[in-house]
Amino acid sequence: MGRRGRLAPTPTGLLHAGHARTFRIAADRAGAAGLVLRIEDIDGPRCRHEFVEAAIDDLRWLGFSWNEGPDVGGPHGPYEQSLRTDWFLEVWRLLEEAGAIYPSPHSRRDVEEAATAPHDNPAEPVFPPSLRPTHRERASAPGGVPWRFRVPDGRSIAFEDAVAGTVHRTAGIDFGDFVVWRRDDLPAYELAVVADDHAMEIDEVVRGEDLLTSTARQILIYEALGWGPPAWCHVPLVRDAAGRRLAKRTGGLAIRDLRAAGWTPDEVLARELPA
Ligand code: GLU
Repeated sequence: MGRRGRLAPTPTGLLHAGHARTFRIAADRAGAAGLVLRIEDIDGPRCRHEFVEAAIDDLRWLGFSWNEGPDVGGPHGPYEQSLRTDWFLEVWRLLEEAGAIYPSPHSRRDVEEAATAPHDNPAEPVFPPSLRPTHRERASAPGGVPWRFRVPDGRSIAFEDAVAGTVHRTAGIDFGDFVVWRRDDLPAYELAVVADDHAMEIDEVVRGEDLLTSTARQILIYEALGWGPPAWCHVPLVRDAAGRRLAKRTGGLAIRDLRAAGWTPDEVLARELPA
């Protein structure tokens, strides 16, 4: 029967061969349980409507289909996160009521100056506990400051991954208190993704292995909300001939470019990348 899955592209650029591979695995694993398409367009001006249209067009060309209709998303089929801010605010409220999050006005610079480097990602400093507030003030709205999730320092979070096996991350070492609500009054990725994977009754999350540490963060959010997490499947990232991961600048490996170069959908989905 399979497990209901999702395709969750962010429309800040064109889909590339790496997306095609991850989405093919997601579709295979979901089988008859099907997929939802969720456009993760909460990142304000960086998301562009032309990339939403290009993504839907590329996905259809590749042969993907997803559940559509009024029970799924908006009238146009896919979910668009930018239309779902009331739901994200509701989840912010649940986390605030649970005492799991706190307002954190500190600038990136404050954090970098006071932070220690995490084990696996020196680019992302661990938020220093010294910058936590000393007492809890209740709030009825985020109020134009970032909010962070307070992580249980030293706790090991373990989860089973269909590809990576048992994965461990330690709160306070591999990652620190993380942002769930942004200064510009938008939800941060970690909150929006948990809110929607829960609301959309996703059974298994299939995505790139670069999000393994995020999964540990997301498990803490599920716990704070009293929700059961989905199953996890993190797939290796596609790299270009020089070993760099494909990013928004895809250097000829955008699905668009492969289409223009005469590749068929099966070739894009099945073939290894050209050297
Ligand atoms: N929107 C994210 C991306 O395009 C995927 C996040 C997820 O699958 O949880 O990289």
